[in-house]
Amino acid sequence: MADDTMSMEWDSPLYRESLAQFEQVADLISLDANIKDRLRTPQRSLVVTFPFRRDEYGRVDTVFGYRVQHLLTMGPTKGGIRYAPDVNLGEVAALAMLMTWKCAIVGLPFGGAKGGVRVDPTAFSRAEAQRVTRRYTMEIINFIGPDQDIPAPDLGTNEQVMAWLMDTYSTHVGHSEPAVVTGKPPSLGGSVARREATGRGLVSLVPAVASHLGMAYEGARVVVQGFGNVGRYAALAAAEIGCKVVAVSDITGAIHDDRGFDISALMRHADAEGGVKGYRDADEITPEALLGLECEFLIPAAVGGVISAENAADIRARVILEGANGPTTTEADTLLTDGGVFVVPDVLANAGGVTVSYFEWVQDLQNYFWSESEIVGRLREIMNRAFSDVLQIATSRGVSMRTAALIKGIERVASAKLARGVYP
Ligand code: GLU
Repeated sequence: MADDTMSMEWDSPLYRESLAQFEQVADLISLDANIKDRLRTPQRSLVVTFPFRRDEYGRVDTVFGYRVQHLLTMGPTKGGIRYAPDVNLGEVAALAMLMTWKCAIVGLPFGGAKGGVRVDPTAFSRAEAQRVTRRYTMEIINFIGPDQDIPAPDLGTNEQVMAWLMDTYSTHVGHSEPAVVTGKPPSLGGSVARREATGRGLVSLVPAVASHLGMAYEGARVVVQGFGNVGRYAALAAAEIGCKVVAVSDITGAIHDDRGFDISALMRHADAEGGVKGYRDADEITPEALLGLECEFLIPAAVGGVISAENAADIRARVILEGANGPTTTEADTLLTDGGVFVVPDVLANAGGVTVSYFEWVQDLQNYFWSESEIVGRLREIMNRAFSDVLQIATSRGVSMRTAALIKGIERVASAKLARGVYP
């Protein structure tokens, strides 16, 4: 069904981009035509609408929720749940497809999934966030489970949301089931080091990237866009290995200091004040200016689509490490790569989160918990092995790191699909 009208159910800018990227790579590796067709569209897409009670007496809002499972071939499906005002089926479907490649690139036994609820979580009280989470969990309860589909945090969700999800699921199956979700609080079977995993995993690639490019990373200037779960721990890890984090932004604004920030102090400020704005005597700059700062490493760690054809020419970073999902449009990616910027794509750079999610799931299934040093060591090993495999493909085939990463992911999935065959 290579007819494009057939994929309209999932149509969205990000889905179109993800599909175009997939098809380009599929053609490059002469992927089996039947498999190419099968992987273009997600295997299961669930759209729900449901009501939940606001705190205001008598007010009930009806909202949209989604859960998309792209591929059930590799094991259970895996991927986050986002709460955002513009979440839609097409975005969730694209992100589920990206999760498939991400898991395959780092070698995890999962297919990709993603979920979302179209709400503005910043407008919620704690009680409202809890009610929306519990009701959404009930709407998708038959589609998730430790052997089936394992959610995790994403934009606008956190450990507490995962705890409510786990509690709702456990209450309904009649026993405690920590392995239904990852990114939980450690007191509920969450893994230590999961919260920091995406940022840490990303920064664990810095020495290998620097050595490949023949540059030093000690003292290297790092710019971080976004100071949520990914951005803040990436900044912290970068500072820990001797880089200088010279600029940071979040929804409250962007700040710059050539001397480099004390990230722990900045985190305390952001927690107390609701954002990075107003931190000590840092210069305030515009979010656009932040992306255009001259630096060695730029880490976009906020929302998708922030580096586009319009601003790609302004980027003066040597390396982009994609902490967010889909921060660079395909057009911008080509402009950047042609301009000599080394882009480590999202499906590789931010795979540390789902890697430690995998560790969390394994620990929950075994009821045996690992130490932080074991987790961090294994994370670093998996990330660096994937990086060197992808670099090897990029070098030997003369393609970008994104294309190389997708080649690795798609080939792994294709060989599993060919081995399983078609039922009946
Ligand atoms: N939401 C994260 C991602 O996009 C983590 C997913 C997970 O841990 O399952 O990779």
